[in-house]
Amino acid sequence: MEEKRMQGILKAKPEIGAEYRTDLPIPAVGERDILVRVKAAAICGTDQHIYKWTQYAQDRLTLPMVFGHEFAGDVVLTGEKVTEVKAGDRVAGETHIPCNHCYMCETDNRHICENMKIIGVHAPGAFADYISFPVDCAYKISDEIDYQTASMLEPMGVGVHGVDKGDVRGKDVVIYGCGPIGLMAVGAARVFGAETITAIDVFDNKLEAAGKMGADDLLNSKTEDAAAKVIERTGHGADVVIDYTGNAFAIKSGFDMLRKGGRFVMVGLPNGETALDLSESVIYKEATVIGVTGREMYKTWEQCEKVLKDPGFHMEAAVGGVFALSDYEKAFQKIFEGVPGKMILIP
Ligand SMILES: [Zn+2]
Ligand SMILES: [Zn+2]
Repeated sequence: MEEKRMQGILKAKPEIGAEYRTDLPIPAVGERDILVRVKAAAICGTDQHIYKWTQYAQDRLTLPMVFGHEFAGDVVLTGEKVTEVKAGDRVAGETHIPCNHCYMCETDNRHICENMKIIGVHAPGAFADYISFPVDCAYKISDEIDYQTASMLEPMGVGVHGVDKGDVRGKDVVIYGCGPIGLMAVGAARVFGAETITAIDVFDNKLEAAGKMGADDLLNSKTEDAAAKVIERTGHGADVVIDYTGNAFAIKSGFDMLRKGGRFVMVGLPNGETALDLSESVIYKEATVIGVTGREMYKTWEQCEKVLKDPGFHMEAAVGGVFALSDYEKAFQKIFEGVPGKMILIP
């Protein structure tokens, strides 16, 4: 390769913000790694933690480090022991790096590996011209999928994984939280055959995006009694509630609107412990409660590709903006201003 240095967004100091640099070394490639020329990288909630240097970030990152973990690009180099992909292949990155030898990995549950590492948190990330990462985390994308869309497959997978576990076909479904993942979940629930989809958020602009994604009913839980509305509309409560907020109020309200014998899928991460009346919310209701994290490797990714190819799925409604990598400050600012949808950086 001719280039010796690359551009990238470096978390250099333990304080708010990050630095745009053009003098970063191109990462080394281990024997089971691949080097990818990043063509698009999306900003995640995790990246906001890193940017703001919250406790989450302080507990996990070793500085200085390039961050970013939702990405797609072209393979340019492969390690000596890589046979799965070759230079020129188009790939998207799975964020979770499994160890491949623990009990969960050996029983085909690599997405809940006991020794999980995360790209852009424990290992250098994708807000750069190049990223080197284990080939186990490379998912080959088909030619019809453009790089920007492919960079959203990782968060989309979280949405789709929740919808898959919700078993939504023919059901009255509630999607609680209309951030990028919730929005993509609305679209996926439509493709998966949900009978009705109610999207709930506290911001009207996010609800509007959920409408474009195919939600039938939009409820603002700040101004309306969402649980009462859902019970009124369904007659007996929602068959399935999928929470993408992690917010204690939303979780409580989600259980209130769940019908007896219903299914509650928890995807959003609460900040701390969450108080819940288990007798009323779960036991008397005989509710099924399911936790979901990340994406199944690689079942969920294949489901995402199918959803993307469905003409009823409108990914554009989940895109908030596209920026040059050097304009990363503007992209973060849009998120902090509450602009709905994913912000994508182009190195
Ligand atoms: Zn992410
Ligand atoms: Zn493992």
